[in-house]
Amino acid sequence: MKCAICRNGTTQNGYTSIVLERDETTLVFKQIPAQICDNCGEEYISSAVNKTLLERANKEVDRGILLEMIKFTPLQAYNSQYV
Ligand SMILES: [Zn+2]
Repeated sequence: MKCAICRNGTTQNGYTSIVLERDETTLVFKQIPAQICDNCGEEYISSAVNKTLLERANKEVDRGILLEMIKFTPLQAYNSQYV
């Protein structure tokens, strides 16, 4: 798709990392499937993936995790569509 930020680039399939912080918990999600602009580098994440990230983050916050690196697998994204 065409990039909504720079309006010049086209997005490509790729992977990104996201850091989520809430209270004392810091979560680093790796290998998140994303569409990345080949011009400005803007990253677009699908709503299904975003929802999975937030659900996972809530669980980790409940567990009292301070810092965790999480590899995001496609399986999680797949499951999230049926929750
Ligand atoms: Zn762009």
